[in-house]
Amino acid sequence: MDSSIDSEAEDFVHTMADAITAPLPRECLPCYLDRMLRDLQCDGSLRLTRNYRDATAPRATALEHRVMNGGGYCDCEVLMNVFIPHDEHVMPCGGVRRGSTQPCSLWSRHRRGMPWF
Ligand SMILES: [Zn+2]
Ligand SMILES: [Zn+2]
Repeated sequence: MDSSIDSEAEDFVHTMADAITAPLPRECLPCYLDRMLRDLQCDGSLRLTRNYRDATAPRATALEHRVMNGGGYCDCEVLMNVFIPHDEHVMPCGGVRRGSTQPCSLWSRHRRGMPWF
């Protein structure tokens, strides 16, 4: 782990209002990441995924492990490798149950060994 990059990213996030990085009510993980990564650059970690988990589903401790299994080793990879949009336009979020880490109906879970197309 490179701590200098980490603390730089930390500073960057701290200068942003917390509200900006907070998930919207009932917003699902991929919609949240999609929205965040329009404004924020992926810092090569699962920072936003963890942020989402902490804010909406703190008991979903296996989430990081699950997205890494799907090839998501950082936030943008989660969006590229783990969740596949049905459409190019994935806004607004279809909404999920609070505490769920499932995607809303706008996304599919990409399963390894099971090509989407
Ligand atoms: Zn990334
Ligand atoms: Zn959604």
